[in-house]
Amino acid sequence: MSNQKLGGDNLGAPSFEGKWDGAHAATLAESELLLYRSNLLGSDKRITNYAGGNTSAKIKMDHPHDGSTVDVLWVKGSGGDLGSMNLDGFATLEMPKLLGLKALYRGLEFEDEMVAKLPQCTFNLNPRAASIDTPLHAYISHTHVDHMHPDAIIALAASRDGQAITAKLFGGTIGWLQWQRPGFDLGLQLEAATCDNPDLEGIILAGHGLFTWADTSRKCYETTLRVIETADGWLRNQKSSSVFGGAACEALPTAERRKTAASLLPELRGALSSDQKKIAHFSDADAVLEFVNSKDLRPLATLGTSCPDHFLRTKIHPLVIEQDLFDDGINNDGLRDLIESYRESYKAYYQRNALPDSPLLRDPNPVVMLLPRVGMVTLAKDKPTARIASEYYINAINVMRGASQVSEYVGLSEAEAFKIEYWALEEAKLQRQPKPKPLVGRVAFVTGAAGGIGKAIARRFLAEGACVSMFDIDVDGLSKASQEMVAAFDTNRVLAIEGDVTSESSVAAAMEDTVMNFGGVDIVVSNAGIASAAPIEDTSLEMWQRNFDILSTGYFLVAREAMRLLRRQGTGGSMVFVASKNALVASAQAAAYSAAKASELQLARVLAVEGAAAGIRVNVVNPDAVLQDSKIWSGEWREERARAYKIDEEQLAEHYKQRSLLKCSVSPDDVAEAVYFFASDKSAKSTGNILNVDAGNAGAFTR
Ligand code: NAD
Repeated sequence: MSNQKLGGDNLGAPSFEGKWDGAHAATLAESELLLYRSNLLGSDKRITNYAGGNTSAKIKMDHPHDGSTVDVLWVKGSGGDLGSMNLDGFATLEMPKLLGLKALYRGLEFEDEMVAKLPQCTFNLNPRAASIDTPLHAYISHTHVDHMHPDAIIALAASRDGQAITAKLFGGTIGWLQWQRPGFDLGLQLEAATCDNPDLEGIILAGHGLFTWADTSRKCYETTLRVIETADGWLRNQKSSSVFGGAACEALPTAERRKTAASLLPELRGALSSDQKKIAHFSDADAVLEFVNSKDLRPLATLGTSCPDHFLRTKIHPLVIEQDLFDDGINNDGLRDLIESYRESYKAYYQRNALPDSPLLRDPNPVVMLLPRVGMVTLAKDKPTARIASEYYINAINVMRGASQVSEYVGLSEAEAFKIEYWALEEAKLQRQPKPKPLVGRVAFVTGAAGGIGKAIARRFLAEGACVSMFDIDVDGLSKASQEMVAAFDTNRVLAIEGDVTSESSVAAAMEDTVMNFGGVDIVVSNAGIASAAPIEDTSLEMWQRNFDILSTGYFLVAREAMRLLRRQGTGGSMVFVASKNALVASAQAAAYSAAKASELQLARVLAVEGAAAGIRVNVVNPDAVLQDSKIWSGEWREERARAYKIDEEQLAEHYKQRSLLKCSVSPDDVAEAVYFFASDKSAKSTGNILNVDAGNAGAFTR
């Protein structure tokens, strides 16, 4: 593999072509120019990783208090992503007050107290919290400052000879500061470096990233790009005969890689979800395969990642899962032992470094798992976090490749890594995060998800934080329904799978797709359906068979595949069947439909018995007369029901309302609420149950 790939094969094109549009920029105010520059820089993941880096500008503003002119530091606030942020993502602080803080600084041991003083410097009551990088921007005397985390620069920053290479490469225009945790002291060091060396255009922070500056926004943008491009171009030209020591093994063909990953993911997810359910992301990007197949995989993985941004997302060490644990069937005991030993070593790392006032030990499970010949699995609390951890580890691979090609890669020392990971300020950030929604970390598989009730179920689950596979035979309907969900929620958590519940291979492939995208499944809702009506004499064998194929066999196939998967995962699960009032009530002229629905109900009860020992619950929701959004109610069934009751089709809704005991209509959302109850831990102690959502029907009362 050539070193063309430096910069990350999923991270964009090789050239850092400037995208500054002078005509557009001329229409923008200074703060808008800063936003424009930030969005341009942040949207190229080779320049800075997701939510990494920050930008600033010192802008003269009218003080709202007395109208006087004051220099205000606009700097990306805590959290947020440069590529997608808006103006409200910037913190604004009065420069005279920030400069005044220097007189209050008591030294390195008192770094954290300075963070508490930043809100006192806020300009115009801006609620956006200032980040710990604020002093770094404030004390650099230049007007516009960029702080980026480009792979090419971090490769130099993590090289044993990085300082010498930087001096040679940039002819003294880019300075170098030794590793120092971000904070007030680093701000003062940057101030001294810029005052002492007025010709500097930027500084590389060892083990961390790049600072660049200029007197206009445009010049700052161009300087940042030029410096990164210089480093990137130079690294590309460093010919190395054997990247990462050369290949130790070959990648499996694509289909086999996927098969292996799919067979391993549920076990891995199960083993790592002991404390909290996790979602997986799989990558077999070229950069990943080159690394996991290399001779240097183990020593480099042991050294750990270097940039703080990287290891906060990936943990300092990944877990290498050797082939003998999965290439001839999965060695479950071996896998669990390996993961347990990772946890033990993480706890030992904590104990070696923790001080009496350190935050408590966090989840000791690995985040990044490297599989020779197959690729990389990341597992985290939700899909975006797992995907971002994967992106960050690819950044780390690019850094290790660059550094080890030109020098020797050096990770951050364990003690420094620990100080960052368990920094009180980092902990405070974690504590500020809102309590996760009840289905965060759960994966749901919903059949018939393009239909009225299925879509309402998918929406309910997504609103509670779940990842949802939407499965349906109706291609157009599915595409519309899934786009609706993506627009309302988040692309990362919605997977649309076209398929047929009556086909064994289609159901198996859909479950495998779900596993590849999310790592496994926790909630399975069988809801796909049709309806038919005819007196028994007129019920064709074809009609009978079709009802049984979809409503009975289809539910069996989905349940069997789900049961196998849930057992492999070993973390319990919940299956919900959307049956019908007709499963309990004898309705004339619906023999095929009613008999098939009754078979669903009995299947669910048998599965509740079979699954209980493994913590797999199976329950049934029985709707009745849900006319809203239902495709069933837009076809022949609607005409037939109106005929049977001798009323117009438009009178059907009122007819059903009046027929119910509670005299009200049932909506898809009402059914979805009942399904959510059974899917969630709210019903953790219920299995084999039936919940009627039919506005009351005495014939359907269960005994
Ligand atoms: P709907 O027609 O709007 O949705 C059903 C979905 O299932 C459709 O999107 C359809 O394409 C899909 N589907 C059909 N055959 C499939 C197959 N072979 N493979 C995969 N997908 C398939 O109907 P709805 O009202 O949302 O009904 C959902 C469920 O609720 C059904 O099982 C139905 O029997 C049951 N139900 C509905 C009512 C009601 O009044 N709407 C009443 C009782 C029970």
